[in-house]
Amino acid sequence: MRTGFPEFRLGSVLATSFTGTLSERHGDAVERIPTPQRLVDWLAVYGLAVDSCTAAQLDLARELRESIHAAATAAALEEALPAPAVHVINSRSAQGRAAAALTPEGKRQWRLSPASAVEDALGVIAADAISVISGARDGKLALCASPTCRAAFFDTSRSRTRRWCDMNTCGNREKKARFHANQRTTPPRTA
Ligand SMILES: [Zn+2]
Repeated sequence: MRTGFPEFRLGSVLATSFTGTLSERHGDAVERIPTPQRLVDWLAVYGLAVDSCTAAQLDLARELRESIHAAATAAALEEALPAPAVHVINSRSAQGRAAAALTPEGKRQWRLSPASAVEDALGVIAADAISVISGARDGKLALCASPTCRAAFFDTSRSRTRRWCDMNTCGNREKKARFHANQRTTPPRTA
């Protein structure tokens, strides 16, 4: 780890990748955006480059993250959405002023205003959460089967039977646990 900070877990769905910046919520929680600069780094990975971030903006980001987590978890459990979480998501979405632009190569690019780049980026994330939680997008919210994780993830598999938020971490850990349980009967193997 070059920076000395926890590495990011990068998923393909913006909103649930964002909630994944706090992982192992039911175990030894890992905060993957512990400083404003790490939020800047994370946003850059998702095409939401901002020049800087204040401690107050990091607080806003974490408030949005926990609100998306709460609402997505409720949606996955088919429970009523918590009103305070819905309020935060809607406020962040309303206050974002990002403009989607089409590049000559046919890619989407977010244009953020320099004066409110972090708020604009959070608006994009909030809008993504709305599309996922509302069912506007093809897929299904589910909770990771790992008891220490229970992260909400967006299952876009055809069968909608995905069990893990991330195959490389939670899924792999489960596979390893099963491997160790079978070790007495199966000779160890190097992958
Ligand atoms: Zn997980």
